[in-house]
Amino acid sequence: MKSLDGIKPFEKRVWLSSPTMHGEELQFMQEAFESNWMSTVGQNINELERLVAEKIGCQYAVALSAGTAALHLATKLAGEKLYGQAKPHEGTLRGKKAFCSDLTFDASVNPVAYEDGEAVFIDTEGDTWNMDPLALEKAFVLYPDVKLIVLAHLYGTPGKLSEIKEIAKKHDALIIEDAAESFGAKYKGMETGNFGDYNAISFNGNKIITGSSGGMFLTNSREDADKVRKWSTQSREDAPWYEHEEIGYNYRMSNVIAGVVRGQLPYLNEHIERKKEIYHRYREGLRDLPLSMNPYDKNNTEPNFWLSCILIQEEAMSPIVRGEREYLYQSQKGKSNPQEIMEMLTRVNAESRPIWKPMHMQPIYRMNSFVTREGNGRGRTNAYIDEGEIMDIGADIFQRGLCLPSDNKMTEEEQEKIMEVIKRAFA
Ligand SMILES: *Cc1c(COP(=O)(O)O)cnc(C)c1O
Repeated sequence: MKSLDGIKPFEKRVWLSSPTMHGEELQFMQEAFESNWMSTVGQNINELERLVAEKIGCQYAVALSAGTAALHLATKLAGEKLYGQAKPHEGTLRGKKAFCSDLTFDASVNPVAYEDGEAVFIDTEGDTWNMDPLALEKAFVLYPDVKLIVLAHLYGTPGKLSEIKEIAKKHDALIIEDAAESFGAKYKGMETGNFGDYNAISFNGNKIITGSSGGMFLTNSREDADKVRKWSTQSREDAPWYEHEEIGYNYRMSNVIAGVVRGQLPYLNEHIERKKEIYHRYREGLRDLPLSMNPYDKNNTEPNFWLSCILIQEEAMSPIVRGEREYLYQSQKGKSNPQEIMEMLTRVNAESRPIWKPMHMQPIYRMNSFVTREGNGRGRTNAYIDEGEIMDIGADIFQRGLCLPSDNKMTEEEQEKIMEVIKRAFA
């Protein structure tokens, strides 16, 4: 075990990314309480929808119980548009394939399965750690009938939107943009959450601003916004009694939660500024180590810097194998690996997290196709690589990368100490 001599553990845990409250949240919750608008109707919801639509620059925002709910209804809308209305017991995608980001959280792509579709995972590029346009092109060669793309912006860094939109246009495909992690990030001056045909953001507890939970569906289509609002409130028809012509969901945001998000919203830019400082401080402080930070396109994008991550250089990786639940590594002088660094950070009471494990490596999706630039890739459930075999980009980032503590309440001294621990990992 590598030495942490002279480094005292934090008394209070330093988190990966925890909620940062300011006070206004409580005031808006209080208003909901005092006016007794404690359900899924009220001023907080109305105001929040107005403010978020204004911030994103889109026409309509529909407040929902979670980002996942927004993605589900976005997927359902896309399915209906492409393949028509489904029977009550069927999903709208009914066995159809959709091209999905591979290096993402599973909530991006599960809705494809909810709607009875089949996700085909598209490999990642190394410039922004998002969907690789070249692999996407390849996927359209292999599966020319596909009409839906589900695209996430990992860790708040916008992906290659121009290229992907161009490809989508060429193939007449719709885009669902999962901006759950990238609220406030910009691509060529425009907010993410505005590039897809259907768009989603999240206010989950670890996101850049939070309502403790919650999410939003964003669109420029009045019709789509109305549909999502109706579906999210149990698909009630305009009748004196409960009349249902469509399957419904209980997905609406509560007016109390909306109060929390409403109170957070004015602090979005401040949070981004703090996250950005943290990112650059890591980059500066760790520059002498054999690693790089999660990359972004400096010319075209302004990430929200939600999470700061590192990628260890290949030559500096000590041997490590990961199974489905366990791992084993060899500790070597001058080298390290994500699990060793994570263990050392845990010893000083700081939270870090492995890079999101790519979807094509997840047991649940082991039968799904996975497409790299070279063509149909082999699905795998761990990152063990045979001699000479080319690792796909996503598996490689998972193998060598780590999400560092990126909490915006972390002090400069705390971050200095975390960087000292990382240095010791390479001692
Ligand atoms: C958090 C997250 C979601 C889901 O949002 P919830 O509000 O937690 O349901 C979806 N996609 C990505 C990429 C996320 O990080």
